Amino acid sequence: MTGRMPLIAGNWKMNLDIDESVKLVDATIAGMQDLADVDVLVAPPFTALSAVRQAIGNSRIFLAAQNMYSEISGAFTGEISGKMLREAGCTHVILGHSERRSIFKETSEMIDLKVKAAVIMGLIPIVCVGETLEEREAGRTFDVLQHQLEGSLKNFAKDRTMAPGTILAYEPVWAIGTGRTASPGQAQESHEFIRKWVGKSFDSETEDRVRILYGGSVKPENIVDLMAEPDIDGALVGGASLEADSFVKLIRFGKK
Ligand code: PEP
Repeated sequence: MTGRMPLIAGNWKMNLDIDESVKLVDATIAGMQDLADVDVLVAPPFTALSAVRQAIGNSRIFLAAQNMYSEISGAFTGEISGKMLREAGCTHVILGHSERRSIFKETSEMIDLKVKAAVIMGLIPIVCVGETLEEREAGRTFDVLQHQLEGSLKNFAKDRTMAPGTILAYEPVWAIGTGRTASPGQAQESHEFIRKWVGKSFDSETEDRVRILYGGSVKPENIVDLMAEPDIDGALVGGASLEADSFVKLIRFGKK
């Protein structure tokens, strides 16, 4: 990592009630009091956002939603807009998670619209990309990443301007929730590819500045080796972010 602040982000998915969410944030705050050299973010379910925002108070934890819709308001039953997320206290939003792409059939075109709407609403997008096992085994990893990046960041690329703070996440689908982590070398190879794509599509300053998180079965046991890679700037964590003990260990990677 070169001058980019590490970011450890917890994606709680469809887990934890309001009470559990607040307790987890309280314990996280207690475990990171002495740290100033790492950014921390949590993405609770929509129902817990406001309570978690209150629990965060003045501590250094960013609040993200796990998804949003690309319109600001209107007849879109069941959807939540970026404006509503801002009102609930979010600063970030995760977009294009592989579960959204595979289970809810979100395409890169839909994600691109959401990324655009998020930025208009003042939210920082965390845009996820990653290949399936089948795609990896067919030697198509970089093609898939390029295709997803081009599609999901089309609006940014058209003007060769990435909104400030935008975060990318490499999450190989075969490593998410499976206990099977990409080796640091495999992850670095993809991160390097993504960073170079950013350089080609935007400019060298954006290439150097953009934070790229790794996600896929990150645990206290493997984070130090992953974070030692030059293009890995942090982690997007599912399972291991649901327990204060493991999440705090992740935030404190490499420290006591
Ligand atoms: C995720 O959901 O983004 C994720 C990486 O999950 P897990 O850490 O459980 O593999």
